[in-house]
Amino acid sequence: MAVQAPQGKAMGDTAGGGAAAPALCRDCLTLPAGTPGDRCPACGSPRLIRHPELHALTIAHIDCDAFYATVEKRDNPALAKRPVIIGGGQRGVVAAACYVARVYGVRSAMPVYKAMERCPDAVVIRPDMAKYAAVGRQVRALMLDLTPLVEPLSIDEAFLDVGAIAAGGESPALALARLVLTIETRLGVTASIGLSYNKFLAKTASDLDKPRGFAVIGRADAEAFLAPRPVGTIHGVGKALDTRLRRDGIATIGDLRKVDEATLVRRYGAIGRRLFRFARGIDNRPVDPSEETKSVSSETTLQRDISDPAALARLLKPLCEAVARRMQRKRLVGRRVTLKLKTGDFRTLTRGRLLVSPIDDAESLYRAALALLEGETDGRAFRLIGAGLEELSDSETIPPDLLSG
Ligand SMILES: [Mg+2]
Repeated sequence: MAVQAPQGKAMGDTAGGGAAAPALCRDCLTLPAGTPGDRCPACGSPRLIRHPELHALTIAHIDCDAFYATVEKRDNPALAKRPVIIGGGQRGVVAAACYVARVYGVRSAMPVYKAMERCPDAVVIRPDMAKYAAVGRQVRALMLDLTPLVEPLSIDEAFLDVGAIAAGGESPALALARLVLTIETRLGVTASIGLSYNKFLAKTASDLDKPRGFAVIGRADAEAFLAPRPVGTIHGVGKALDTRLRRDGIATIGDLRKVDEATLVRRYGAIGRRLFRFARGIDNRPVDPSEETKSVSSETTLQRDISDPAALARLLKPLCEAVARRMQRKRLVGRRVTLKLKTGDFRTLTRGRLLVSPIDDAESLYRAALALLEGETDGRAFRLIGAGLEELSDSETIPPDLLSG
């Protein structure tokens, strides 16, 4: 565990000279000098983090813990110790499970009936997305108090570049620990921090020590940390690619490192380049705070799998209308039409077509998406259908004659 999960505490015990590594108390926010033991010399807390590179790392990923469930528990203290599942609805899958429910083996995306078999005492709550979004915005506002370089990944997680804090002479790790304490005391939700030197490793780290975690992956320990991890833990490696990699004898990130870049690209396409770099702990993507919309899409999960082309076409129409409404509200036009389908056995297909001129209306989108759909309706049954637009630009900057097409 100590070597596999180089969280501060573990590294302090295992790394050579680790006892002298800088330390930070996550409860009283002091930086104990010298070589503290297992507890903070100032407040006695065991939540001491220690790592040789603690004050030198500036890319963080902060992720709220079991976010939806935590918000519901906050708002109803009677649920505090109960197993809580957020989910239900028509298809009835688990959207989030609290840590009590997870002890019983309840997991996200599991059908609610199955979750109830494992944990019959669970309290099931219908998701209240508007409420979670509001809390998510409050979390984001606190992050932005620390740095403008916040790149949201979803409602409850974001990358932060805290390089400016380090440049100003303060410890970024200390600032981050203070931030999650503030989130906890002001908003009543807990979050975990992953701290490293790039986004890939920061995101990996935030998962290592949940909940209320703080895990550090430094430059010196990245390769050794990554080597034994399954390839499927690399962000972007889905089930299908994971299966292919394993069939090709690549089970761990260490195995991945034995294959050269050209071979990876030839075998697996563009993601091969990312696999090559990530395997070595290299990720040059900057933390990008711009909220530029890259695509607008709408999809629906079907209550039963459908293969009938006419029925699928009928489902496509309102999706295109929803996309068009959002495009027009955002004053965007898009040139690339996308169709997404998920087969009964969970394979996701995406098909795209570049149009001569950009569009933002439902009718043009529907026509183009329908043409893509007709290429796929060959008797296969689908459980999800979606449509969208990509390659977007500001409608104001497009000459009007292009819009008429
Ligand atoms: Mg989360």
